[in-house]
Amino acid sequence: MTEATGIVGEFFSLKEETDAELLAMQCGDFYEFFAEDAETVAAELDLKVSQKSSHGSSYPMAGVPVDDLTPYLKALVERGYRVAVADQYETDSGHAREIVRVVTPGTLLETSDADAQYLAAVVAGTDTNGNGNGTASGSDDYGLAFADVTTGRFLVATADDADEALTELYRFDPVEVLPGPDARTDDDLLHTVRERIDATLTLHETEAFAPKRAAHGVRDQFGSETTDRLSVDDAAIAAAGAVLDYVEETGAGVLASMTRIQAHHGDDHVTLDATTQRNLELTETMQGDSEGSLFRTIDHTETSAGGRLLKEWLQRPRRSLEVLERRQESVAALSSAALARDELQDRLGEAYDLARLASKATHGSADARDLLSVRDTLAVLPALAETIESTPELAESPLSEIVARPDREAAADLRETLADALAEEPPSTVTQGGLFRTGYDPELDEVIERHEAVEEWLETLADREKSAHGLSHVTVDRNKTDGYYIQVGKSAADGVPDHYEEIKTLKNSKRFTTEELEEKEREILRLEEQRGDLEYDLFEELRETVADRAELLQDVGRALATVDALASLATHAAENRWVQPELHRDDRLEIDQGRHPVVEQTTEFVPNDVAMDEDRGFLVVTGPNMSGKSTYMRQVACIVLLAQIGSFVPANDAEIGLVDGIFTRVGALDELAQGRSTFMVEMSELSNILHTATEESLVILDEVGRGTATYDGISIAWAATEYLHNEVRAKTLFATHYHELTGLAEELPRVANVHVAADEQDGDVTFLRTVRDGPTDRSYGIHVADLAGVPDPVVDRARGVLARLREEKAIEAKGGGSSDPVQTVFDLSSGQFRGEASADGGDPDGDTETLDTETRTVIEDIESVDVAETTPVELLSKVQEWQERLESE
Ligand code: ADP
Ligand code: MG
Repeated sequence: MTEATGIVGEFFSLKEETDAELLAMQCGDFYEFFAEDAETVAAELDLKVSQKSSHGSSYPMAGVPVDDLTPYLKALVERGYRVAVADQYETDSGHAREIVRVVTPGTLLETSDADAQYLAAVVAGTDTNGNGNGTASGSDDYGLAFADVTTGRFLVATADDADEALTELYRFDPVEVLPGPDARTDDDLLHTVRERIDATLTLHETEAFAPKRAAHGVRDQFGSETTDRLSVDDAAIAAAGAVLDYVEETGAGVLASMTRIQAHHGDDHVTLDATTQRNLELTETMQGDSEGSLFRTIDHTETSAGGRLLKEWLQRPRRSLEVLERRQESVAALSSAALARDELQDRLGEAYDLARLASKATHGSADARDLLSVRDTLAVLPALAETIESTPELAESPLSEIVARPDREAAADLRETLADALAEEPPSTVTQGGLFRTGYDPELDEVIERHEAVEEWLETLADREKSAHGLSHVTVDRNKTDGYYIQVGKSAADGVPDHYEEIKTLKNSKRFTTEELEEKEREILRLEEQRGDLEYDLFEELRETVADRAELLQDVGRALATVDALASLATHAAENRWVQPELHRDDRLEIDQGRHPVVEQTTEFVPNDVAMDEDRGFLVVTGPNMSGKSTYMRQVACIVLLAQIGSFVPANDAEIGLVDGIFTRVGALDELAQGRSTFMVEMSELSNILHTATEESLVILDEVGRGTATYDGISIAWAATEYLHNEVRAKTLFATHYHELTGLAEELPRVANVHVAADEQDGDVTFLRTVRDGPTDRSYGIHVADLAGVPDPVVDRARGVLARLREEKAIEAKGGGSSDPVQTVFDLSSGQFRGEASADGGDPDGDTETLDTETRTVIEDIESVDVAETTPVELLSKVQEWQERLESE
């Protein structure tokens, strides 16, 4: 880089002060990017690059108008850049520039996205009772903090290990993550954050994570009792401290909107690991679309805050019977009081995002229209309360307490203040006046009055001049260069009085000014400035009043969001004939005519029952391919999950014992189709379930073990079943195509078989989608092969092979015509070809020397087939090919 001076030099030296990738530097009415930054920005945002010459060198330059910076910043940050913003300000000797903010994904305030936008920190725990040297040790606790600068929400959590930390990260889905000093060396964690969560990783200075400094910062922000009250690990406090420090450092100016810190832990917690959230398609489908997810399906919220809350409920189900039954009561009341619910939703439709507005007010970016939105949204709360109180069912439900919780009086006061202050249609700029009602401020009223009087004087001047001096064609106007002027048509221009002073001659007219007009001009400019300044000061004061009430606004916002989320659950329940499940503190799981909440939307769904309890805690689910096993199991998991957010469920009747965790694992083969998983991943997730699930968990295993060779797979499935049944004792549903597992029902007392029934008539298979007790009696693969048009001889032979496999656990490969001697035998018990001839002769040593070449190559082919990796249909066609090759000998 050449030594640059002047404006470009200033750009380079500011750039050195920041670790941001890009710098937007204000130069008058534009924010400019120079040099490489200009090229990057131009390429990303389709801007024009010009050249700026500075002392003999030339630099690329790209700029955006000052008022348009926000959308550009947003676009850059969404593409993963950190952008520093340097503002220009006046000094005695000209002007200076200073970096005022660094905008990053997690500190972007200008979002229009309804989703929460979390900034997270994750800190690996240190050994507090061990060697005491304060460095990372054997302890594998993690502390996490999550802040949404757009709403002021702030949460801390502790995780027992890296997996759980990831689960929490996945749950909150942050846009930016600050790994603590120790977490930085955890490649797995970082990789997952980058790839799966798609968050920007930012290495914030390590001192910010130092326990003492962090605790100090947290107490400063949330009060001196905070660290004791929260009773979370030091690691969580370190994470919280680092987040606060980072928000402050980036200059987002929203610290004041963070009024409350909450810990997210305890008995009430239901484990829902990242894999399970994905398998159950909670917020997005396996393909990554939000359409078709459980959330989208049940979301009927009216406000973005309500939507965020409902999503949070889904991602964080509860176990507390009290909490859930209270939600149920509200949902029940709302679902029967349809008219009142409509009314509430209509009102909610008028609400804006109060938490976001509070954050904008504290940051100082709220304009007059934002404050009007606050005013209007504050009016929604009493309206809701009125509807609730005048509807007996609702009045008796917990809803009346939800709307009574915020300080209604304070809310009404604030609303009144805003209503008295703000004009009905204020401009979006806050520096040019027009923001306030008359009567709000006497001084302002006076200035406005004088301003209007001068305006009036100017407006009527032309008429006065006309009649006073007998002039025609007179207009009074103002422009930038001439200021105010009296314009007289050419024909009359010679007759103007002497005190008219000519300032300009145009083609058809002349412009004049007078002493009086100049004086009025000075007066109006002075008044305009005075009015703008005064209104701006008053507005800042008003905005600060609102910012001071950030906590109140958050309370009101939360109440509105809660009513919205509950009304949404009620709407969905009413529209889809869902029922209120009975919740219990035991092991039962009885679902009568249950449906899958998402699949039922698009399919003529066949309902199914589930019956599980203490003595029947493990169901082996069998049935043909595509019969509905996976759907059945997911339906069970979704129903339990819905019950544990307080929702009604898709069933005729349900009794649900609350679980402490839901774990699902889909076999690698199904997942491979999505290009996601490997057998290794399948096994490490199985391992996680076997370690983490408890007696009170719900475990769903779908074709686990299928990702490896048959014998490996059966063995793993078998052993996992025994372990889950004997040691973990979790409520489990295990779908498997290993028919062998159905035998376990006889050995293990709590295991039962169920199957998804299919009907067969004249060789046609009809899927009934009905789940019945007992194992499937056979594999339908051969029927599928038949249906697919595989030639009859092959299908017939396959039936024969299957029968022999069942009876004798061995099958001989036929050579030549049906009466030809058997030449090789596949032995199921050893899993190998015995390469030996049959009883009626041949070569007992399997010496292939005596065989002809074609037969030998067929045998080699047979030996090279990986049975576990070959589908039955492929295998059948291979058998057919071998037969043909042997026949043609
Ligand atoms: P499997 O896991 O047994 O191979 P799936 O659960 O993947 O089968 O279901 C196969 C297809 O059948 C899916 O398209 C699914 O939507 C449909 N299906 C499953 N269960 C039902 C049901 N109870 N009612 C209607 N359609 C169903
Ligand atoms: Mg399946």
